[in-house]
Amino acid sequence: MSRLPSQPPTPEWTDNWKQIQPTLLKIRRSMASLRTSSLKVMRVSQLDSDILDLELFDILKEQLWNALSLFKPTIKENFEPEMLGILNLVLFKLSVYDSSATYGSQLQNLKYRNEWEHGGILESIAKDAPLTKTQKIAYGVLTVGGQYAWTRTNRYITERGWGELEESDIRNKVYRVLQSGEKYWKAFSVLNFLVFLYNGRYRTLIDRFLSMRLVYAKKSLNRQVSFEFLNRQMVWHAFTEFLLFLVPLINIEKLKLKLMRTLLPKSYLISSKGYDKLPDNQCAICHDNASSSSNDTSADVPLGQLQDYSVHNPYQANCGHTYCYYCIQSKIVVFGDEWPCLRCGEKVESIQKLVCKVEDTDKDEKEANGEDSNGAEKDEKSTAVSSE
Ligand SMILES: [Zn+2]
Ligand SMILES: [Zn+2]
Repeated sequence: MSRLPSQPPTPEWTDNWKQIQPTLLKIRRSMASLRTSSLKVMRVSQLDSDILDLELFDILKEQLWNALSLFKPTIKENFEPEMLGILNLVLFKLSVYDSSATYGSQLQNLKYRNEWEHGGILESIAKDAPLTKTQKIAYGVLTVGGQYAWTRTNRYITERGWGELEESDIRNKVYRVLQSGEKYWKAFSVLNFLVFLYNGRYRTLIDRFLSMRLVYAKKSLNRQVSFEFLNRQMVWHAFTEFLLFLVPLINIEKLKLKLMRTLLPKSYLISSKGYDKLPDNQCAICHDNASSSSNDTSADVPLGQLQDYSVHNPYQANCGHTYCYYCIQSKIVVFGDEWPCLRCGEKVESIQKLVCKVEDTDKDEKEANGEDSNGAEKDEKSTAVSSE
């Protein structure tokens, strides 16, 4: 520790630093085999990014077809795989190759990292290792090239009808190998997806092969999406759905009647239309319908004189007033037991056929007897009308 005056003074901590190197190395090594909480990346973000990518591709594809709409349709048909392949290639070059993330994952704050460099404890604490060039190129070859090769081969084989050749033919064998290959690929994809749902790593088989894992691009910014708007939207959507379900169940007319009855005095409701003064052989509902359909009936002409709406097939409400069967029954069907009699304002809960000739045996029915005689008149009239 003797310092020569000519030498620059070494900081005191350098010796300490050298001394602890073996210990540090030991700790580093032991850390690699330690288990810690694993890095969790939201599955929904990863899946959303895939959907965004597909949407983007669809938009671009549509643009491409629009651009080609003036060309011969055979061009599009013959070179569809090539054109889509080129589009895919451009997208791959500008997204994954240049910035290690597809556009969808960029929107979801995700990027690919080289998971081979992140074994053990390094999964969640080490700095994200960028993708190697080999990984990127292999990814491009498998996704863009693989997709193109697959569609092209399928087209070729279907055009040549390899599936219908004899079983001993080598071309039929190739066809069957490809068929089963597709089956296995799909089965493994499903399996991979299930594993992905379980541990949240590697959305696709290709990602898994190449050990390209989607992680957060900015760790402090876990989620960019603001759910406030989405939530509001969903609440409104659910609310309107509920209303659409509910409104047909509510009888608006009935509600209106009920409201009018509670708010307005009964006497006003009856006298405002003057049906209480209508002759007994006239159907108040028929008059009401006529006046509501044509507004030119002047108010000063007494009801029942201007037009003749005698009761047809008389039915008596529980208040004692008679109406045509059709009129009163249609009111009951629409309003239930909320409909008030137009003459007295009483709720009509039940109706019964008016028996025309009833002997006045009961003293209580004196009023009704008056009605009955009217009913008999009416009946005569109605028969006269019907015979005409
Ligand atoms: Zn009527
Ligand atoms: Zn009545």
